[in-house]
Amino acid sequence: MTGSGMITDSFDREHLWHPYTSTTAPLPAYKVKSAEGCRITLEDGTRLIEGMSSWWCAVHGYNNPVLNKAAKDQLDRMSHVMFGGLTHEPAIALGKLLLEILPDGLTHIFYADSGSVAVEVAMKMAVQYQYAVGRGERSNFVTIRSGYHGDTWNAMSVCDPVTGMHSIFGNALPVRHFVPQPRSRFGGQWDPEDILPLKDTLDRYGDGLAAMILEPVVQGAGGMWFYHPQYLVEAAKLCRERGILVIFDEIATGFGRTGKLFAYEHAGVVPDIMCIGKALTGGYMTMSAVIATDHVADMISNNYPYAFMHGPTFMGNPLACAVARASVQLLLDSGWQEKVGAIESQLKKELAHAADFPQVADVRILGAIGVIEMKEPVDIAAIQRRFVEEGVWVRPFGRLVYIMPPFIIDSSDLSVLTSALVKVVAGQ
Ligand SMILES: *Cc1c(COP(=O)(O)O)cnc(C)c1O
Repeated sequence: MTGSGMITDSFDREHLWHPYTSTTAPLPAYKVKSAEGCRITLEDGTRLIEGMSSWWCAVHGYNNPVLNKAAKDQLDRMSHVMFGGLTHEPAIALGKLLLEILPDGLTHIFYADSGSVAVEVAMKMAVQYQYAVGRGERSNFVTIRSGYHGDTWNAMSVCDPVTGMHSIFGNALPVRHFVPQPRSRFGGQWDPEDILPLKDTLDRYGDGLAAMILEPVVQGAGGMWFYHPQYLVEAAKLCRERGILVIFDEIATGFGRTGKLFAYEHAGVVPDIMCIGKALTGGYMTMSAVIATDHVADMISNNYPYAFMHGPTFMGNPLACAVARASVQLLLDSGWQEKVGAIESQLKKELAHAADFPQVADVRILGAIGVIEMKEPVDIAAIQRRFVEEGVWVRPFGRLVYIMPPFIIDSSDLSVLTSALVKVVAGQ
């Protein structure tokens, strides 16, 4: 490691808008030269151990030869053709592979271009399904608080109203039904009272609801909370008794992150519609998919307007499909379950004692995710500088300091990451 990493670019600072920051007083953006395996190399040569997998995506690390080859091979054939009226081998091969690993019953794949768009598509599917079965008045949604489903309009409408800033957008957003986040922890006791607010809301407003949308088991950017899988069992039962569809947003949880290939497996509840994205391409490019049951797809298709009304320009992009196929196959061949299990054990061993710090409210670990919840919000710019000084890339938000490293991380790199986490948190 050399230098402090504090290379910022004046053009970037003046003209490029970064996520969730200001243009006049932006948070610093460290300039990256390259990335390889679990290392990000900054412009001044500083090398950082990657703790974020670029927001859940880069499960194989960076610059992976298998994924590079898949992209290059496909590039020489064609990088894109429209999906309207045309199809191609990368889309078909990816679809076949996804059906092998998705739950039985989810059979119809709609490719989309980002996670947020997948959520929009899933919500439209649910509304079109209800219309098709003659219940067009069922057009609203219910969800739990502290969720995160993306930044586009409808996705935002089902994000947590506080962290999703509904106070600003409220007048322009569709109003959804929110019930409290389940308090029963993953791995703890199930408290039957947890489901009562949902039951009450469904009893009152169920006739107006197209679907319930949830992140199964792990709530990501809305609060990094891991809840009891029994909630999914009970919630799905209540919805199904009332003809309300169940949508699982597995955009963050999919592809092994929680210790199962998909998080629904913790509960054994198969949704009617499922969204995947993020790690789908191993973090190489943007792509998502929405997968529906035969029943949902058939009802939409057999009733007016006899088609699902959506079709993004870059739907089924061959380059993204080719890389996604290579990434999913690599994951399946990589012994991911042992790797994620080993990361989980090590995180438990090396992070647990942070729970004793007076400034720490909670420590929780599931699969390859480690979360230290602070009592007070952290100063992002300052804490990020501290992490860079320690040679790691960690980007907290609010009261949450957390890591979700690439699955390929070795135990010594992971120790550097957890030591840095504990040390920096201790100094808060
Ligand atoms: C990131 C995320 C999204 C949005 O995906 P984008 O690709 O950023 O649009 C939706 N749902 C969940 C659970 C996510 O973690």
